[in-house]
Amino acid sequence: MSGYILTAPAKINLYLEILGDRPDGFHELVMVMQTIGLRDRIEVKSQRGSGINLYCQHPQVPLNESNIAYRAAQLMMSRFPKAYDKFGGVDITIEKNIPVAAGLAGGSGNGAAVLVGLNLLWQLGLTQPDLQELAAELGSDVPFCIGGGTAIATGRGEILDPLPDLDGIPVVLAKYSNIAVSTPWAYQTYRKQFEEGYLPDDDSWQARMKQIHSGGLIQAIQQKNIEAIAAELYNDLEKVVLPEFPQVKKLRDCFAKHGAIGTMMSGSGPSVFALCNSVTEANNLKTAVAAELNDADLDLWVTHISCHGINATLIE
Ligand code: ATP
Repeated sequence: MSGYILTAPAKINLYLEILGDRPDGFHELVMVMQTIGLRDRIEVKSQRGSGINLYCQHPQVPLNESNIAYRAAQLMMSRFPKAYDKFGGVDITIEKNIPVAAGLAGGSGNGAAVLVGLNLLWQLGLTQPDLQELAAELGSDVPFCIGGGTAIATGRGEILDPLPDLDGIPVVLAKYSNIAVSTPWAYQTYRKQFEEGYLPDDDSWQARMKQIHSGGLIQAIQQKNIEAIAAELYNDLEKVVLPEFPQVKKLRDCFAKHGAIGTMMSGSGPSVFALCNSVTEANNLKTAVAAELNDADLDLWVTHISCHGINATLIE
């Protein structure tokens, strides 16, 4: 049976600001999203029977409807019933390399990969905007994961405004394997603590978005100035996650101490990334942080900023 191998990169947030409460219960956000080299591998194949078979070796990844890859296949089956009839059910195999519940959009990327894979497998001819519209039904980060690269994300995170590519900047990524942060917990805790300071309405949100669009980080990205990008990294969710998980704060401080040009928690955490000037500096930083923290539960990767979203290869 025919199939595709998809690679789905992780994302980091160069910027994450919470503007206010939306009528739909979500937060209104302004983020700068960035794909990195670390990626999952997803195989999507037609099978003779009907339905969805999902395989993944990772113990924290659910193998039922709560898996976003599964829900992506269900969405495609309900939206394109003729194609489902013609091509039959699907086998989805996820090889997890991106840590789970880490603020790296691992699940969202898997969902995006299944949308891209079934579009190809079923020869639907959907465009990137079509796929992003479907992706928004699965989750706020899923539309970004389709095309990847560097983008300003507003609304719940689903409204995307692409920025110039920053390909190649070395990144050290770190995560404690024994700490997982629930994204809903991080946002709900933020609301409890900071709701009083929220901007009240759409006009004030638009005004703040305009400021960010013409502000230092976007200029630095347009000029590909790593030092200036590093100086502008920001994440509101650090205000709730770092006090709750002192180890994560210590990790971030350790990156800064050992010469990262910029360091920040990604999304709702607990992963922390550091930007570096060269691969040699990134390798040295990784070694220094691993030696100082000396913790078997701390995983570290040297990777890079990447301009790629989901990549697909036909299985012959
Ligand atoms: P996001 O930024 O998309 O919220 P995250 O990096 O914070 O992502 P995920 O790795 O997507 O977090 O995992 C969040 C939860 O989603 C996990 O605890 C897991 O139970 C569930 N989940 C559902 N589908 C997947 C998937 N395909 N891969 C990983 N986790 C998944």
